[in-house]
Amino acid sequence: MLDYFDLESKLSQEERLIRDEARKFVDERVRPDIAEHYEEGTFPKDIITEMGEMGFYAPNLDGYDLPNVSETAYGLLMQELEACDSGLRSMASVQGALVMYPIHAFGSDAQKDEWLPKLGSGEAVGCFGLTEPEHGSNPSAMETRAEADEDGYVLNGSKTWITNSPISDVAVVWARDTSDPDTPVRGFLVETDRDGVTTNKIDEKISLRASITGEIGLNNVWVPEENILPNVEGMKGPLACLTQARYGIAWGAIGAARDSFETAREYTTDRDQFGGPIARFQMQQDKLAEMATQITLGQLLAYRLAELKESGEMRPQHVSMAKRNNVRMARNQSRIAREMLGGNGITLDYSPMRHMVNMETVYTYEGTHDIHTLIIGEDLTGIPAYNPD
Ligand SMILES: Cc1cc2nc3c(=O)[nH]c(=O)nc-3n(C[C@H](O)[C@H](O)[C@H](O)COP(=O)(O)OP(=O)(O)OC[C@H]3O[C@@H](n4cnc5c(N)ncnc54)[C@H](O)[C@@H]3O)c2cc1C
Repeated sequence: MLDYFDLESKLSQEERLIRDEARKFVDERVRPDIAEHYEEGTFPKDIITEMGEMGFYAPNLDGYDLPNVSETAYGLLMQELEACDSGLRSMASVQGALVMYPIHAFGSDAQKDEWLPKLGSGEAVGCFGLTEPEHGSNPSAMETRAEADEDGYVLNGSKTWITNSPISDVAVVWARDTSDPDTPVRGFLVETDRDGVTTNKIDEKISLRASITGEIGLNNVWVPEENILPNVEGMKGPLACLTQARYGIAWGAIGAARDSFETAREYTTDRDQFGGPIARFQMQQDKLAEMATQITLGQLLAYRLAELKESGEMRPQHVSMAKRNNVRMARNQSRIAREMLGGNGITLDYSPMRHMVNMETVYTYEGTHDIHTLIIGEDLTGIPAYNPD
């Protein structure tokens, strides 16, 4: 596997072990059928609890039988999952960083006791409801409302593009609390079997097909007071979750790029044209050299990001830069790998085009490439350019 600057030597024994176990699991349990799942538009549901047993959900959190591994180990895990398919990494990212993390960081003891063990083991599945049909890049304009009644809240609104909503037991729903004149955004744990909840599946995707995506409809859904996440208020709640998930994406995207690169390297050394392997042509070597360089730069960025996260110095803007760069890198490099495979490259028999198409989703969700550009731009100039009016 490509590791041009020997980052292996920087890894602890535990980090190598976690990476190797994840790679073995993926190779044995998921990779053989992933193209079929992609074609069918299904997620291999039988592995949800196996991924829990392997400790793939929020392993960087502590307590509640969670492994509390290093941020580098967590990143390496995301990389191995996405080297198989972005749908697999999305499963782990949503469950760990977008559902377990907010419960862990902002939940009550009762919420933690109830949900973290079940979500950690994969016995329960969760989803994260922030995006709405009319509000994607600007979620603070959300229309979903939570109206207080005597002993709880009534939720109304709709969320869309929600990973795993059709197979979820619980949704972390972000809504404006109308009981406060400032209508702050609050997080609510909404069990999906409550009256008034619908979770229709979105079938029309041609990207991230090995992942279930849906809507969350909320029609006068009552939840008790104790379902509110008590320890956070305002957009900093969902944004803190996104920082965690984006961190995993910055690592994960490298996996998709690396898998594309390794496929192209192998293919070009095996494939003969004009009386010998196509890898002997300078143009092919130029592409491999550029891919290896871009992947290596992404690896170095992710490795340093992990150090900053571990020492508590990581800022959301660091994550924006790493997510923005590494996803664009994977999007470009998987396309080049695809082209190096010629006609075979457009089939599901090889991974690069699947990665390439997946990257269209990864480029868009968790803050589009443009939005991360503006986050970095604001950090560099002090001028927020999101809304020029
Ligand atoms: C497969 C998939 C899974 C997803 N999973 C989840 C999930 O689990 N939970 C969840 O809450 N959401 C999820 N999302 C939603 C995702 O986060 C949004 O699609 C994303 O935030 C972009 O929002 P939008 O699609 O409404 O695009 P828009 O916000 O309408 O953006 C359209 C285009 O305009 C650009 N744009 C917008 N504002 C600006 C600006 N100020 N300056 C310059 N350009 C701008 C964008 O970059 C983009 O190119 C998922 C999306 C997909 C595709």
